[in-house]
Amino acid sequence: MLGQMMHRPLSIIEILRFSAETHPKGEIVSVRTEGDIHRYTYPDAYKRVGQLAHALKKLGIKAGDRVATLAWNGYRHFELYYAIAGVGAVCHTINPRLSAEQMIYITQHAQDCIMCVDLTFVPLIEALADKFPADMRFILMTDRAHMPESPIEFLCYEELVANEPTDFDWVELPEDTAAGLCYTSGTTGNPKGALYSHRSTVLHALMVVVTLAKMLNEGARVLPVVPLFHVNAWGLPYSAPLTGSSLIFPGAALDGASLFELMAREKVTSAWGVPTVWLGLQGEIAKRGQNPEGFSSVIVGGSAAPRSMIESFEKCGIDVCHAWGMTEMSPIGTSGLLSSHHLETLSHDAQIDLKSCQGRRAFGVDLKIVDEAGKPLPHDGEAIGELYVRGNTIVSGYFENEEASQAAMDAEGWFGTGDVASIDKEGFLLIQDRAKDLIKSGGEWISSIDLENIVMGHPDVANCAVIAVPHPKWDERPLLVIVPNGDKRVSKEEVDALLLKEVAKWQLPDAIEFIDALPMTATGKVSKLTLRQRFKDYKLPS
Ligand code: ADP
Repeated sequence: MLGQMMHRPLSIIEILRFSAETHPKGEIVSVRTEGDIHRYTYPDAYKRVGQLAHALKKLGIKAGDRVATLAWNGYRHFELYYAIAGVGAVCHTINPRLSAEQMIYITQHAQDCIMCVDLTFVPLIEALADKFPADMRFILMTDRAHMPESPIEFLCYEELVANEPTDFDWVELPEDTAAGLCYTSGTTGNPKGALYSHRSTVLHALMVVVTLAKMLNEGARVLPVVPLFHVNAWGLPYSAPLTGSSLIFPGAALDGASLFELMAREKVTSAWGVPTVWLGLQGEIAKRGQNPEGFSSVIVGGSAAPRSMIESFEKCGIDVCHAWGMTEMSPIGTSGLLSSHHLETLSHDAQIDLKSCQGRRAFGVDLKIVDEAGKPLPHDGEAIGELYVRGNTIVSGYFENEEASQAAMDAEGWFGTGDVASIDKEGFLLIQDRAKDLIKSGGEWISSIDLENIVMGHPDVANCAVIAVPHPKWDERPLLVIVPNGDKRVSKEEVDALLLKEVAKWQLPDAIEFIDALPMTATGKVSKLTLRQRFKDYKLPS
């Protein structure tokens, strides 16, 4: 017997319509590429999105067309998210940190017809324009006064929207209509596209709101340092308006001092981003000896949050939530918020330990770990296997890429994350490593994340990474690469002594190398691939 309830299609624009009606005081504050600060409310944003939708229609955008964006976090980028999806087209966010080859590849693969660009990227467009799809047009996200001289015929964003009506007759779209497209950074092979739908996006927004209600509520002021150009800034453009939280968009300046200033001025309550960004902010907090006023929580994800980072935030009274996810998961998969019984019964140290795990699954995300034969392993905190996921916010395949789609899914339709993990009895996920970053030594695995986590706790270490280097007897052995904090170079003996408190002797790195900076991927993670290439002929001490 079927239920007798209405079936209304889930639709992205409904989020903003709701927000404009219900949270009229919710603000969007943006640091603009023009150099000033812009602020308006959700009702203002909704009107501008209506104008932009008219403009897109006039430009001939049809259902299913891909409209690319190449832009920082700001209100115009936010408007594009809603207007593009609202007219039934697909918002393809491009990561400006991708290599030129990858950018050309994805615009060709996606067949983008228009690209909306922030001022910063004019030189990039001028250099690459003739390699993009032949009919592509470019919109510059600024006003007439800031339009530069350029051989490219840029359309002016503000002129396009200026005289359009604010009301737009949003058509009802089937909820499975594609709405967003984001390519993985493709550290191996070509980038692969995750194609989000209205349904998956709205469900993800609801899921995030429920999971992270502590940080997302009416009156909260949220800083997405995570970019709109990659995995929808962890869904914040949707989940924040839904709750009436204000959004503070930082623009291009993401160094510790700029973030601190912005957070203090705008009374940011919660900030979301990858660990590398928080290293900068923590340095600034230490320098000034105070937090930005009102700052009470931080979400760290995208790569493993070092224990020392969690501890030092908590010492300043900032609640840390360590989250895990992937482009292919919209992206949130887990949240590390502790339950009241943890807070009441666990010692401070035990709480930090638990927060160093990647947290428990969000509602709607199923997790399983499997052995090499694909057999499910117990969630007992001991068994370690490859992590698979299933749910309404997870890709069922990659955009126009049959081969990668088949390789990613198992026979029961679960998606293989490429991560190796354990899950304990309470459901806490512990990511051991990316499968390709694990170090295989004499048939045993060494987790690079484990070692990095411990070494990061040393005061003379600013950042570090552990990679596998080939070894004639053991196949691979760990090499520790350290970016020193100041002039002092920590000795191997000191590092070993620190590590031996928590790991076995055979897991100790064979050698340490010091470098000035770690290579980063386009998504702000340490590029282990680049490091492995750099040290591929490294001779370990015998
Ligand atoms: P890409 O960088 O290729 O675009 P994503 O941004 O989707 O990929 O990154 C997903 C991967 O990042 C995960 O599979 C996992 O390896 C890693 N990751 C994300 N969050 C965490 C975390 N909290 N701890 C450890 N690893 C993480």
